[in-house]
Amino acid sequence: MVESIKNVAIIGAGTMGQGIAQVCALAGYPVMLYDTQPEITKTAIANVRKRLEMAVEKGKLSANLKDEALARIVAVGDFRQLQVDIAIEVVVEKLDVKQKIVAELEKLNAIDCILVSNTSSFPITQIASVMKHKNRFAGLHFFNPAPVMKLVEIIRGAATNDHTIKVLEAFVESLSKISVMATDSPGFIVNRIARLFYAESLKIVEDGVSDFQTVDRLLKETGFKMGPFQLMDLIGVDTNFAVTTSMYNAFHHEPKFRPSRLQQQKVDAGQHGRKSGKGFYEYP
Ligand code: NAD
Repeated sequence: MVESIKNVAIIGAGTMGQGIAQVCALAGYPVMLYDTQPEITKTAIANVRKRLEMAVEKGKLSANLKDEALARIVAVGDFRQLQVDIAIEVVVEKLDVKQKIVAELEKLNAIDCILVSNTSSFPITQIASVMKHKNRFAGLHFFNPAPVMKLVEIIRGAATNDHTIKVLEAFVESLSKISVMATDSPGFIVNRIARLFYAESLKIVEDGVSDFQTVDRLLKETGFKMGPFQLMDLIGVDTNFAVTTSMYNAFHHEPKFRPSRLQQQKVDAGQHGRKSGKGFYEYP
């Protein structure tokens, strides 16, 4: 554990928030988990419990460590309670929502509290523009599923100071993850490359060249762990679409980042992937 970090707040208990809560709790950090409604945090903690119980069944985790980790995650219903050493913003990919939360967290917390965003696409400097003390803000981009994926991008905003970066590097290491530094730019490193992977796959299906199941099967046969459509369902079709749209706007409508109509239709139909029971595939 990092000495200066005694507790963690996670704002947003969806796909990523609950995974990051699990990672932090297993590493020994007390975690306050906040979302807009108590039912969401309740479901998130139940999901963490299920995953940890499965790990115990498989012999990957002791029952004691599971119980200790679960006891460290507390659902918090009142935003004003989120006074911590590090607050991780993990809400929907909407700039105004993120900025509002970051500004409120700054008012609530001491000057040495580090604030980070798990955004996939918004420039860190842009999110931080609403802050008074921008030097303690950075991007901390975990990948999905957070408990499994080792890589975390640390994104330095134009005003982020060395101390913040140093603490974040140590924090990531304490979570048994590997950090990679990225310069502030829409989509950073991995998501910028990945955009083209999704865009071309969607275009192949839209153009009638192949169906999505075949595209997934072929890419898996060439060595990818998951096909693009399986991955979009895992990420959340809505989240993936929001990331593409944000990058398309940030790159001044660069055609290679143009959002797909097929993906837009899935979002409009509420077919958001695993989390909604149906995306490209069905999840009974
Ligand atoms: P999600 O839709 O699964 O969850 C978002 C959560 O934010 C929801 O539970 C929602 O209720 C909550 N929320 C919305 N407004 C809020 C507010 N004002 N206060 C508190 N909570 C609020 O989304 P997700 O997939 O977990 O993505 C969250 C963030 O992580 C996004 O910025 C996304 O780009 C990023 N991210 C996602 C992935 C992925 O694969 N899904 C990977 C890396 C980063």
